[in-house]
Amino acid sequence: MLDTKLIDGKAQAAQLRADVAARAATLKAERGVVPGLCTILVGEDPASQIYVRSKAKASIEAGFASFEEKLPAACSEAELLALIVRLNRDERIDGLLVQLPLPPQIDRQRVIDTIDPTKDVDGFHVENVGGLWSGAPALLPCTPYGCLLLLREAMPKLSGAEAVVIGRSNLVGKPMAALLLRDDCTVTLAHSKSRALPEITRRADVLVVAAGHAELVRGAWLKPGAVVIDVGINRIDVPGGKSRIIGDVAFTEAQGIAAAITPVPGGVGPMTIACLLRNTLLAACARRGLPLPPI
Ligand code: NAP
Repeated sequence: MLDTKLIDGKAQAAQLRADVAARAATLKAERGVVPGLCTILVGEDPASQIYVRSKAKASIEAGFASFEEKLPAACSEAELLALIVRLNRDERIDGLLVQLPLPPQIDRQRVIDTIDPTKDVDGFHVENVGGLWSGAPALLPCTPYGCLLLLREAMPKLSGAEAVVIGRSNLVGKPMAALLLRDDCTVTLAHSKSRALPEITRRADVLVVAAGHAELVRGAWLKPGAVVIDVGINRIDVPGGKSRIIGDVAFTEAQGIAAAITPVPGGVGPMTIACLLRNTLLAACARRGLPLPPI
């Protein structure tokens, strides 16, 4: 039986946030630049409201200027695009993101591609996606980049590792695969049509699961000694009329088999916000032609 290590996303995220705050303080002292992060929330989805609030709180804690824009759920796509165009021109704003999901009358990709790519701190704009895959400078998507930072810490020699990613969304799975490829892993990208998924995962030295399917990956699906990153967030009902959040990996079953695993919550989630702050700082420097801080 292996002694499975818990990957502490909270601690690593706190360290990254402290580094970003220190760099932001230097930027302000030496250049008079205060990075600005603006969120746009369309509608009143409760989870989205929480995410937007925590992003604003985190940016203020990092010493950034925080801006919040809200539109009603019934707003038209044209209204949202016009707001983005105005914010693209606003020099106080270095990072601009539209909280997802969006109401059905709005085309998500058209919205994302209207954001100035130099301000696209979510890293979803087609120009940044192209940069990620081609190796050109790009703002990298926060959740997958956060996963990569956790992996680099848990497994210092990623080069040559067999990496399996479950989930092929534009937001998580695909950019995760691209990042692992950049770090010289041999990458398999699996999805809901993949055959014999347990056989695929049992090859993985590194397994990243972003399927949105509670406890999809069982302990027996893991290669002994694998490093497992669980991106999934699934709310399940528990006795007493309450609910709790669990991941895409059967966490208890993974104990004694995986070398290391992220908990849910407390693993990937905190890294996502830390990477958003990092991207905003990098965007603030890049947009002014300043040297990029090595974080
Ligand atoms: P998504 O857009 O719904 O994509 C899910 C992907 O998983 C799809 O590619 C789907 O395959 C695949 N999939 C679904 N069920 C599967 C199964 N049974 N076997 C194999 N593959 C399966 O979701 P997402 O936006 O990528 O998010 C994935 C999960 O991560 C969600 O739980 C989400 O809440 C969580 N998340 C967490 C964070 C964080 O900060 N911690 C950030 C973003 C997302 P097909 O393409 O074939 O349909």
